[in-house]
Amino acid sequence: MALSFDDRIVVCGAGGFIGGHLMGDLVRQGYRNLRGIDAKPVGQWFQRLPNAENLVLDLRDRTNCQIAVRGAAAVYNLAADMGGMGFIEHNRALCMLNVLINTHLLMASLEAGVERFFFSSSACVYGHDKQAHPGVEGLKEADAYPATPEDGYGWEKLFSERMCRHFTEDFGLTTRVTRYHNVYGPHGTYDGGREKAPAAICRKVAIAKLTGTDAIDIWGTGDQTRSFTYISDCLYGTQAIMSSEVVTFPINLGSTEQVTINQLVDLVEEIADVRLKRHYNPRAPKGVSGRNSDNTLIRQFLLWEPSVLLRVGMEQTYRWIYDQIASGKSREPARSVGCD
Ligand code: NAD
Repeated sequence: MALSFDDRIVVCGAGGFIGGHLMGDLVRQGYRNLRGIDAKPVGQWFQRLPNAENLVLDLRDRTNCQIAVRGAAAVYNLAADMGGMGFIEHNRALCMLNVLINTHLLMASLEAGVERFFFSSSACVYGHDKQAHPGVEGLKEADAYPATPEDGYGWEKLFSERMCRHFTEDFGLTTRVTRYHNVYGPHGTYDGGREKAPAAICRKVAIAKLTGTDAIDIWGTGDQTRSFTYISDCLYGTQAIMSSEVVTFPINLGSTEQVTINQLVDLVEEIADVRLKRHYNPRAPKGVSGRNSDNTLIRQFLLWEPSVLLRVGMEQTYRWIYDQIASGKSREPARSVGCD
């Protein structure tokens, strides 16, 4: 699908991390008719674009979804009540209520004649049995079934993926679905309890540097493995999948550079030029033992896969979080380091 620069593009969740970056990227490319929607007051959006329409709407409400997508050619649904493991393990019902956002956005998009609809799914749709030890193989798209996803958050994502599929098959609405694998970068949540491992580690190391503290605590043993996707790769992949004519199924969007949480902490310490003691908390939420993306399909269908090295992305992320805290913008003192 080729959009013209005057087509209206709606980004839901524009006050959040990925949505804010997507709005900025679309402006940089020359799109002139952008509408960003978020439930948060505009003053709390990570990035605000003065030349876009910025609306504050709760998208769980169907009428608000109708207002949001009016006149739109393309709709990106990046709105969700979510966070890292510390949030999703304790807020399963809230995470499942995200189903209202995607359901009402799909219904409103169909009514409004939207040409293409994007849904941001997650690696949390994959079953625990495929992620039971740190040395697991990359998760293939087919591994989502038989379904045993992350309770709450993962079930909602898998259900909404299927809702997209059936809106396409039964009603003809073109939908695209991506399973993000832990996206990180500047201008995202790094405190307050919804942050994920890369941001949490950067925050704790930055606070240790600034206050002279010599230790941080880590959720689990630190041996859990993950791969982390830098925001620029996420933006490119998201838009390539949205415009693709061949990626008509839920597809992984994730890096394959797998590290343990301890290695991620090592990396941030190197970037910050500091060495800290580690206090491990095995009882804290720590998510699955191992997770990585299998990129066979994205390579095959887009001739591309995420490639930003973790060190490069983490340098940018650490610098931004350090600056936020040093300039007094941090809302909270250090919390534990978890992973999603
Ligand atoms: P985020 O929390 O930074 O942004 C989500 C935004 O949605 C927030 O600004 C929030 O205020 C908004 N929102 C929540 N409820 C809303 C409602 N009822 N109406 C309108 N807006 C509402 O999260 P993000 O990291 O930018 O994630 C974007 C999407 O990608 C989400 O669907 C998320 O589940 C998915 N995802 C993200 C990751 C990741 O690592 N960041 C991984 C997998 C999937």
